[in-house]
Amino acid sequence: MDWADELAQRVADRGPQVVNDSKTPSGTVHVGSLRGPVILDTIVRALRANGIETTFLYGVDDLDPMDAQALLTPDAVEREMGRPLAHVADQADDGHASYARHHAGIFIDIFAGLGIHPDRYYWMSDIYPTGDMDPFIRTALDRAATVRDIYRRVANVQHPETWHPVSVICPSCGKVGTTIVSQWDGERVFYECRPDLVTWATGCGASGWTTPFGGTAKLPWNLEWAAQWSLFGVTIEPGGKDLSTAGGSRDRSDAIAREVFEREPPLNLAYEFLNIGGKKMSTSKGRGAAAHAIADVVPPEQLRFLFLRPRPNQAIDFDPDGTDQIPRLFDEFDRFAAATAGRPVRGELPPGHRATFRYALLDPAADVEAEAAAFRIAFDRVAMFIEGSRRVDPLARAATEKGAPLTDREQAILEERIRAAERWLETYAPPGRWPGVQPELPPAADELTDDQRRFLQAVADRAEAVRPATGDGWQTLVFEAATETAIAPKRAAFEAIYRAFGGVPNGPRAGWILADEPFEFVVSRLREAAAAPVGGQA
Ligand SMILES: [Zn+2]
Ligand SMILES: [Zn+2]
Repeated sequence: MDWADELAQRVADRGPQVVNDSKTPSGTVHVGSLRGPVILDTIVRALRANGIETTFLYGVDDLDPMDAQALLTPDAVEREMGRPLAHVADQADDGHASYARHHAGIFIDIFAGLGIHPDRYYWMSDIYPTGDMDPFIRTALDRAATVRDIYRRVANVQHPETWHPVSVICPSCGKVGTTIVSQWDGERVFYECRPDLVTWATGCGASGWTTPFGGTAKLPWNLEWAAQWSLFGVTIEPGGKDLSTAGGSRDRSDAIAREVFEREPPLNLAYEFLNIGGKKMSTSKGRGAAAHAIADVVPPEQLRFLFLRPRPNQAIDFDPDGTDQIPRLFDEFDRFAAATAGRPVRGELPPGHRATFRYALLDPAADVEAEAAAFRIAFDRVAMFIEGSRRVDPLARAATEKGAPLTDREQAILEERIRAAERWLETYAPPGRWPGVQPELPPAADELTDDQRRFLQAVADRAEAVRPATGDGWQTLVFEAATETAIAPKRAAFEAIYRAFGGVPNGPRAGWILADEPFEFVVSRLREAAAAPVGGQA
């Protein structure tokens, strides 16, 4: 059983469940931030599959203050830093109502494509003005001493004795990150907008008594989080490892939930980061790993699989830029599919691999057995189909490999892989890839040894006898010819094929190269290379 089903069993007798997560839309969201939504969706699917009534919520904490100066135009820094993200203008000027709507929108737009469908999205900039948060603001202010004590006890944070847990949106300058409240009379708070409260934003100096209700103020993050749990009845909320450290955000909010709002906090499931190139990627740094950029290349099921293959408590190292990690992700997905379909696979598979495959599928109602059994052609092979000016008809080649026409679903998978390979070749593919089969015998064939020529001759002879059609058939034939001619080391055999067809010493699976060219061309090239200048070094 896998972790999501284990979780479902743990809560099976606790009644309906509400699964929640929320995100501060502070800038471009990198691909690692999709781990939370994918885990959330998997939990929801597992709960529902176990017959548990479940509500799936996703929130945007867009009254949080703007604190990312690098993402503002220079003239906007002084004005916008410290204002609620929902009140900052969209810097991209492409029609979104705010900076928050822009960044959250781009992120959330990815969800549906990944099969992630929350029952409800909520925006805190919409929630506060309804007055729904007012009871929690009142309770927090009434119990300010308890809140200060929790910060001291749980997080070793000393707030002044006059500090009150609410942030007024300054009526003068509109900033929320610069205000502090020092008094509460039961209806109004006394606030100051301080020039030096934080280093990253400058308050205007205004002060006075004002109401904290109806959207004029917000709770600090730890209290807002705990209030969301009460307001929405949240029972399960996974969180990134950074929030789940001792004395960290989750501990504080848990204590606030229990002691201030008097409600047991939701079940936590801490998950690890996705590291790009070995480092945790920050939102503002790192090129080419924005969530929407990766989602534009990696199809939904492989992207879900990227996050689901490791358990939540395992970090993921993902460095797609200039590497073969995206092709290997497809290979691993295909291996899980094969194992789920009961076909033999190489290497060990982790426990729960069937569930991993099931939860990686786009459609929660998909026929898992049929999906697992579907014919999938390797990503590297698909990339070969479309590289350069090839003569290959992918659909015909795939049907030959399968040994039967593709079903509609298999054809859709192939088309998806062709699109993904096209994007990958344009974006993340490493330089110096296989140049493709050369129309004329490459000069590199001059460097073939006598052993290699004998081997190529043997491949040609066998090919004419056997007439292999598939990549696997050709690969087997190549191995047999290598054994027959006793060429050593074995890789000299493959190098001979790469030199004869591509003019380089390395390449993709030799059987694929040969299978994708017209048979007569392959045989004549093999013989031509085998016969090339006598006197290559022995
Ligand atoms: Zn925009
Ligand atoms: Zn102000």
